[in-house]
Amino acid sequence: MKLTIVYDNKTLDPNLASAWGFSCLIGEDLLFDTGGDSRTLLSNMAQMGIDVEGIKTVVLSHAHGDHTGGLGGLLATGIRPTVYVPRSFPTRFKADVRSLTTLVEVHGPVEIRPGIHTTGEVGRGIAEQALTVETSQGLVVVTGCAHPGVVKMVRRAKESAGGKVYLVMGGFHLGGMSRRPIKQIIADFRQLGVQKVAPCHCTGDRAIRVFAEEYGDDFIDNGVGLVLDIGP
Ligand SMILES: [Zn+2]
Ligand SMILES: [Zn+2]
Repeated sequence: MKLTIVYDNKTLDPNLASAWGFSCLIGEDLLFDTGGDSRTLLSNMAQMGIDVEGIKTVVLSHAHGDHTGGLGGLLATGIRPTVYVPRSFPTRFKADVRSLTTLVEVHGPVEIRPGIHTTGEVGRGIAEQALTVETSQGLVVVTGCAHPGVVKMVRRAKESAGGKVYLVMGGFHLGGMSRRPIKQIIADFRQLGVQKVAPCHCTGDRAIRVFAEEYGDDFIDNGVGLVLDIGP
């Protein structure tokens, strides 16, 4: 199973662009979030040799522009992927997508395809879904911003998919948090059995540093251009 970061605040490769937002390609044809703008998204994908026409499924984590902003330009290329959004997305947004392609409104946990589940809507206010991907090493949990709390998202992911958590990657939303509560989150991650972490996007610089210290070799430096190939 291959995971490729195509949009993030940081890039690992000077030939690729960074901008505030997040998007991760899962396998060859499922895009989780679309970043903040389609120009950056599409140019990074082209630069990395990713075939946009091959995208069959788009899953949007939550209704913030830095995760949904690339969708319009993506659909403007002519592709018609099935788009999964939390049911609580704005009516107008859902109608716009539905006028172009198939929209699936997610409430509870759903299997999107064999081995790939959404947690369903987590949290009130800005409801958010995370994705779980089954790999030979265990579950990979991909979060957008984790507004409802990253520990809660991981717990829900574990419940909806089952099995041990190999890796949590994406935005952990811990910007501005001090060291002590960050360490508590890491303790909760350990308790949940999270083996590796790849925080990025809205995680916050301090939190990323503390995760790097605590996880050591199991910390993965994340940004645009990261390609993880995890067994079958
Ligand atoms: Zn957000
Ligand atoms: Zn965000």
